[in-house]
Amino acid sequence: MERPHLVRADADDPLSALRARVDLPPDVVYLDGNSLGALPVGVADRVRGAIEEGWGDGLIRSWNDAGWVDLPGRVAGRIAPLIGADVDEVAVTDSTSVDLFKVLVSLARLRPDRRVVLTDDGNFPTDVHVAVGVADLLDLEVRVVEADRLEESIDDTVAVVTATEVDYRTGARHDLHALGRAAHAAGALTAWDLSHSTGAVHVDLHAVDADAAVGCSYKYLNGGPGAPAYLFVARRHHDDLATPVRGWWGHAQPFAFSPEYAPAPGARRFLAGSPPILSLVALDAALDAWDGVDTRAIAARARTLGELFVDLVDERLDGLGVTVASPRDHDRRGAQVSLSHPEAYRVMRALIDRGVVGDHRPPDLLRFGLAPLYVSRADVWDAVETLRTVLADDAWRDPAYTQRTVVT
Ligand SMILES: *Cc1c(COP(=O)(O)O)cnc(C)c1O
Repeated sequence: MERPHLVRADADDPLSALRARVDLPPDVVYLDGNSLGALPVGVADRVRGAIEEGWGDGLIRSWNDAGWVDLPGRVAGRIAPLIGADVDEVAVTDSTSVDLFKVLVSLARLRPDRRVVLTDDGNFPTDVHVAVGVADLLDLEVRVVEADRLEESIDDTVAVVTATEVDYRTGARHDLHALGRAAHAAGALTAWDLSHSTGAVHVDLHAVDADAAVGCSYKYLNGGPGAPAYLFVARRHHDDLATPVRGWWGHAQPFAFSPEYAPAPGARRFLAGSPPILSLVALDAALDAWDGVDTRAIAARARTLGELFVDLVDERLDGLGVTVASPRDHDRRGAQVSLSHPEAYRVMRALIDRGVVGDHRPPDLLRFGLAPLYVSRADVWDAVETLRTVLADDAWRDPAYTQRTVVT
């Protein structure tokens, strides 16, 4: 395989046109969209407008005149189709961690006779911390099992099964259909974290019969650093679910200023305090990049990029000390490929210095996110070739790369 062949394949792929919807620096191969998505075209102008016209000129009137009051609902309505949900099942608010807390507490309370929150050791640390905090609060127990034993570990002591569909380190992907079936057969409820799924693999919460889900909007959805997260609660639970963080924005009528709490209908009750308007404006504008995008087609593109990455690693990096740490079965992997190398941190620093931006996860992983909205086949080629040079020339041994930065 050679680069010109891939450039031609990119040119023949209609999805390649989507790359023009994001602004990336010309000299960067960006393979870290699974950590912070690229800046979509138009976001900066919209945020500037919200600050200068909305805040500066409109002041308090902008809550009505600029539609700020409806912004959480509007953005929820744009995320819903990307996750196979209906609008009233989605709320956009807070962070993934906080949303998971609210969802786990409210689900666990639907199973008062059960004591176990079940998760797996591939889960993202914040998810496990939150689960332990919830267990503390409700006098439950968190059971952490190996990722591939999650399904068989579901029994009738389990109140809630919670997992991240796509493992942030390796990209290994759970089968949410199978997990959902096993959970419901045992009378347990499910709460999925879609942080590494939405915008990367095909997500259909209705098809997997999810009870609840949360996810991050600053990764594949490109909502911007620290963008508000989203949560999903299935309509069948709406009448029974109570959020543990009851705030006025989740009230049925926030501006009635009633001292009596009455939850808003549907997922909106999971809002708590005032929405972060500037961040929501950025996320709303960022979601324009997803307008008209077929999520199945984009997931297929992620798969193509992943296959190509693994093939090129096999073909061109043989004997250079890296091994594929992601599942080789493309159905069992999200939109990323991770490689292991004993000096992964230094190798990644050397790569970043050469314009290929991925990241490092301890202890030994090089992570490459293949955000299908804007990563091309030529990017994959360039990344693998640059890695080949860094490894073959021992460029990573430069002492400058031993110094650790705070964010890796
Ligand atoms: C990125 C990520 C988060 C982020 O949580 P925040 O509270 O929004 O910072 C949570 N869970 C998973 C699985 C993630 O990948």
